[in-house]
Amino acid sequence: MTTTPPSGSLVDPFGRLHTDLRVSVTDRCNIRCQYCMPADGVVFKPHDAILTFEEIERVVRVAASLGVRKVRLTGGEPLVRHGICRLVRMLSAIPGIVELAMTTNGVRLGEFAEELRRSGLQRLNISLDTVDREKFRQIARRDALPKVLRGIVAARRAGFQHIKINAVALRGQSEDDVVPLARFAREHGLELRFIEFMPLDGANRWQAGDVLASDEILRLLSEGVGPLEPIPESEVHGVATEYRFADGIGRVGVIASVSQPFCHQCGRIRLTAEGRLRNCLFSPEEWDVRSLLRGGGSDEQLIAMFQAAIGAKRAARGAEDGQFARSGRAMYQIGG
Ligand code: SAM
Ligand code: SF4
Repeated sequence: MTTTPPSGSLVDPFGRLHTDLRVSVTDRCNIRCQYCMPADGVVFKPHDAILTFEEIERVVRVAASLGVRKVRLTGGEPLVRHGICRLVRMLSAIPGIVELAMTTNGVRLGEFAEELRRSGLQRLNISLDTVDREKFRQIARRDALPKVLRGIVAARRAGFQHIKINAVALRGQSEDDVVPLARFAREHGLELRFIEFMPLDGANRWQAGDVLASDEILRLLSEGVGPLEPIPESEVHGVATEYRFADGIGRVGVIASVSQPFCHQCGRIRLTAEGRLRNCLFSPEEWDVRSLLRGGGSDEQLIAMFQAAIGAKRAARGAEDGQFARSGRAMYQIGG
């Protein structure tokens, strides 16, 4: 049975209801993943160019009045934004926001996990592509695996449930990591999700041949760990296709954003660190919320801006024809 969304909610021309807002709180990061950031020469936004916590709170309040129910803090690396727990407290107090989550590289979780939990953060996704220290150093260009592992332990101790581990899958790089990551996740009671490498790398070198497709990942898992059983769509929330290991220990998801795009079920809208609203990871269009806020704009004007962004959403991958639109912005500049 389909129900009609309440009037004033964010429904795009294709009937997709938008209830999920991704908020980037910084474009800075303490590591340099090859598939996201260039090695050096990165020019970050000056502090006064990025939204203040009060500005973010106002945007989220307005979004909540338009039916947004879920907010995910991301970046850059959200835990390098000074005072991030204060923002978590502010957002967790907004009526209508029923899920407040964060995606982090985990490097600083050892310092912040407890305070984040006390401040009202409900869910954590931790990015981890390998459990091999040297391989981690190559991918992230920083020797930070021990800190991430300590961060995961701290997150569990702080009481976070259903922690997800996100691994980006690249052909020629990730094949040897798939099985050890799955074993690690099973051992520690973590949910594991593989994300196909998308054309959002800072170096702009992505090629279709670099993607390790979900089918291949599933084959590696079933051969190396054990048989997998699909979890029915009705039990899955979000864009991953999920499986459980037939022995009952652990589940794993694949986000086939390249090989089997899920744009038809996309309900996400994004706010970049410098206050641009985006209706798609790939779309070149942005709406300038920061100028509106700093120019004394009203909540009604902000609502109109949200509606304009959603009204302009394209069918798939930011384009009419389903081919990737290339905005020239990398993942760390948008917020994954
Ligand atoms: N720094 C945090 C982290 O790494 O979790 C949050 C921001 S990061 C941009 C958000 C997610 O995007 C991470 O899970 C990361 O692995 C993923 N990501 C970055 N670049 C990507 C790319 N080119 N293709 C697919 N996923 C990517
Ligand atoms: Fe930083 Fe996250 Fe990008 Fe890695 S994926 S460079 S941790 S923002």
